[in-house]
Amino acid sequence: MTRIYDEDLKYGFSTRGIHAGQRPDPTTGAIMPPIVQTSTFVQEALGVNKGYEYARGTNPTRQALERNVATLEGGRHGFAFSSGMGCTDSIMKLLKGGDHVICGENVYGGTYRLFDKILQHFGLSFTFVDTRDAQRIADAVTPKTRMVLVETPTNPLMRITDLKAAAEVAHKAGALLIVDNTFATPVFQRPIESGADIVYHSTTKYLNGHSDMIGGIAVLTDDDLAARLQFIVNAAGAIPGPFDSWLALRGTKTLALRMRQHDANGREIAAWLAKRVGDDRVFYAGLPSHPQHALAKKQMSGFGGMISVEMQTKEKAGELLKRVRVFSLAESLGGVESLISHPASMTHASVEPARRAALGVTDGLVRLSVGVEDVGDLLGDLESAFAGLT
Ligand SMILES: *Cc1c(COP(=O)(O)O)cnc(C)c1O
Repeated sequence: MTRIYDEDLKYGFSTRGIHAGQRPDPTTGAIMPPIVQTSTFVQEALGVNKGYEYARGTNPTRQALERNVATLEGGRHGFAFSSGMGCTDSIMKLLKGGDHVICGENVYGGTYRLFDKILQHFGLSFTFVDTRDAQRIADAVTPKTRMVLVETPTNPLMRITDLKAAAEVAHKAGALLIVDNTFATPVFQRPIESGADIVYHSTTKYLNGHSDMIGGIAVLTDDDLAARLQFIVNAAGAIPGPFDSWLALRGTKTLALRMRQHDANGREIAAWLAKRVGDDRVFYAGLPSHPQHALAKKQMSGFGGMISVEMQTKEKAGELLKRVRVFSLAESLGGVESLISHPASMTHASVEPARRAALGVTDGLVRLSVGVEDVGDLLGDLESAFAGLT
């Protein structure tokens, strides 16, 4: 079980991002943690080892990442996974048949698909609610409710859930609050400080930040819950390899720096879009016109680079996607490069059309993952793309 080094906690966020969980390699002095590419570890005698046996259970490179992100989120234990979905799936294995989960209706499409198409056939039941209103969560509680799972801001409509209120409702029901913090990152939002029991990420996105690996990570505080999750990690085995762990760890060293730039660029581009097409067609929690801007400002210290814009028709959306040159048309988000996508046919393609419509994911919606390029180049790209729209 990977527990943080307590002494790392005395440092500030950026310092922890660079150093926490890592110590110079004792055999060579290498400042970067080695990629320990091995399946097993030689034992000195029966039952005598250096804390490592078989790498499904623990691996030093993976542990460095786990300790690092655990300190960033303000938790005590970290568990890295082979993908964000592998992480969610392993967290759900804390439950047993008959248990009930309340889930935000606007969560990542893959999370909804995992619950709706797979896990409900294992005897788990799910109620999907609009978690913007904590009362709706409270109304969905049953005697079997064991988890409340929320994502905030949501993808792609940037809806905000009040984490403190959600934690209160969950705990009153005897349930755990699980928070997907992929969009905000610990730079801007720390759910554990608001009462979350488990916070998790697709490290594929901002934590890694360079679009060159797939991974997930969960962070928690409670020792017993951590022991149960460690058992699942070892028993079910959805672990990342050492190289991917190392890439994610390299990413977190610049997380604070990158997020500052994503945020600065995001604010400028959201403001430009709002002026171009009108406040009501731009979804960004940092805009004063966002209906939950006050709550977002209270629980987040920045808003990052995720913006959605309503282009009103699929044709207009398609034209915009075709006309940009600096933004690349691709799924995913959170990398240094700017991406543009069409949620209805890309990230939310697995959600049935009627449900998509009910969620507000229209055919005209376009999502931007604003990168860290020069903002003038991004604005210029959008300006010329919009100017040519028919
Ligand atoms: C991408 C994503 C996931 C899934 O993560 P993978 O690494 O792609 O498996 C989960 N939640 C959110 C918010 C995401 O953006």
